[in-house]
Amino acid sequence: MPTGTTDSPLRSRCRKAAGRPASAYRQEGRRCFSTVFTAGKHTENEAYERVWGSAPLERNKMSQLKIMFIGAHPDDIEVSCAGTAIKFAQKGHIVQILSATNGQSGHHEIMGQKLVDIRTKEAQESQKRMGIHSYVILDNNDAYLTADIHSRERMIKAIRDFAPNIIITHRLNDYHPDHRITAQLVQDCSYLVRVPNFLPGTPIPDVMPVIFYMNDHFMKPTPLDPEIVVDIDDVADAKLNALDAHTSQVYQWLPWISGNLHKVPTDPKERIEFLRNAFGTRWANTANRFRSKLIEKYGNERGSKIKYAEAFEASEYGGYHDIEVEKKLFTFD
Ligand SMILES: [Zn+2]
Repeated sequence: MPTGTTDSPLRSRCRKAAGRPASAYRQEGRRCFSTVFTAGKHTENEAYERVWGSAPLERNKMSQLKIMFIGAHPDDIEVSCAGTAIKFAQKGHIVQILSATNGQSGHHEIMGQKLVDIRTKEAQESQKRMGIHSYVILDNNDAYLTADIHSRERMIKAIRDFAPNIIITHRLNDYHPDHRITAQLVQDCSYLVRVPNFLPGTPIPDVMPVIFYMNDHFMKPTPLDPEIVVDIDDVADAKLNALDAHTSQVYQWLPWISGNLHKVPTDPKERIEFLRNAFGTRWANTANRFRSKLIEKYGNERGSKIKYAEAFEASEYGGYHDIEVEKKLFTFD
């Protein structure tokens, strides 16, 4: 199979056979896959292994999965989808947050290594509060991230080191260049992660991770179209508590750049309420935006009352998705 492309010949064949666009292939991948390989000489399991290096999640029969949340900055995951990270950790899965940059640009008064040290300590505190396995910060400067070969090598090494079953990251359209570049780097690694001659010497994982995009509010060129929604009401306080650990961001930098620094309270309890107002609105918007999906998943009575939610869209890159299995995985009660 050629390297340097994320679209394998088998995938192309599969799409042609189904006569559908890539998005339809992603949603109905199982039928498409079966058509091609039933017609050929491979069993379905062999086909999965030939193309992706592993069977899909349900075939792994793994009770403990490794889930890697990749954000551009220390705090991005906490802002967007820490509720799901906390829930996975509570369920006994191994959760890692990876920040693609060190956070050294996002402050109006502190800079350089001093800020990197602060961000690292805050991330460690956030990790502790969330009860997740690890929090890794790559040595790339905040706001200077590019999708060059060095960044790709760092990203692929981090992915290979952790060997996740699932990666959750930004989409390619986002307001911050680091968010876009992080998404690009993950996409660039999604095939190369199992190519031994790229960055030889780092162990190749057995599993090709499936990739999901975390929620955002950007509409062009396409809005998020999630297959998976998660009720996070029961962990909203824990999510706020994780955000509260990022003092230099949520009580200093972000209020400063949005002109709200004078509104930040000093009392710890009032600070949590300040965060609830600032970030809870976003999580409520996600719940309202995807209300019909919440009702579909949780039923009318519960689904119509959920206040805060997180949402995830399957990427067509990386491992093969079995959405019905993954919907169950993202169900925590
Ligand atoms: Zn960010």
